[in-house]
Amino acid sequence: MSQNIKKKADSSQDAFAFFDTIFTKKPTYVAKGFDFPVGKPDAKGYYNAQKFTVNDHLGDDWNGTGGGNTDLGDPIYAIGNGYVKFANNIGGGWGNVIRIVHKYKGKYYESLYAHCEKISVKKGSFVNKGMQIGTIGNADGAYYAHLHLEIRDDIFMELGAGYDDDTKGFLNPTTFIKSNRN
Ligand SMILES: [Zn+2]
Repeated sequence: MSQNIKKKADSSQDAFAFFDTIFTKKPTYVAKGFDFPVGKPDAKGYYNAQKFTVNDHLGDDWNGTGGGNTDLGDPIYAIGNGYVKFANNIGGGWGNVIRIVHKYKGKYYESLYAHCEKISVKKGSFVNKGMQIGTIGNADGAYYAHLHLEIRDDIFMELGAGYDDDTKGFLNPTTFIKSNRN
């Protein structure tokens, strides 16, 4: 029993050690604050069609104020400096997904951008706040185009389902961004 607990603690320390090392080597990519991922920096021209926890939603859904697919192909920006830990097409209801790890004030956060039409960053690369990382998509026609944005304070969770009544590990993206501007 105690052996198991020790093993678990060690492995999560190792996982953090990876990120500690890369952000120590590249300190300019430590986040200094956050902006919105569309209509930068304040989401001008966009609205949040499905807010965090509405219908058990684990993120925000950013849509262009023009409605429908008027926002298809619009730029998506990194909300803060960070490291791209995942960028790939998962298919199903997710489509193209980008996951960025941010180190901020000594803690780690993840931002997740889903249903992208295009991805313009690669796994293992660094990004700056406001840098274009992809374009708004519709998960290969599954929805009207929009950006599903999640922010997590546990960077080691599985992708999940985008909806759950248990919000452990997930933050309200709009609240987080608004209270951590710079
Ligand atoms: Zn969504």
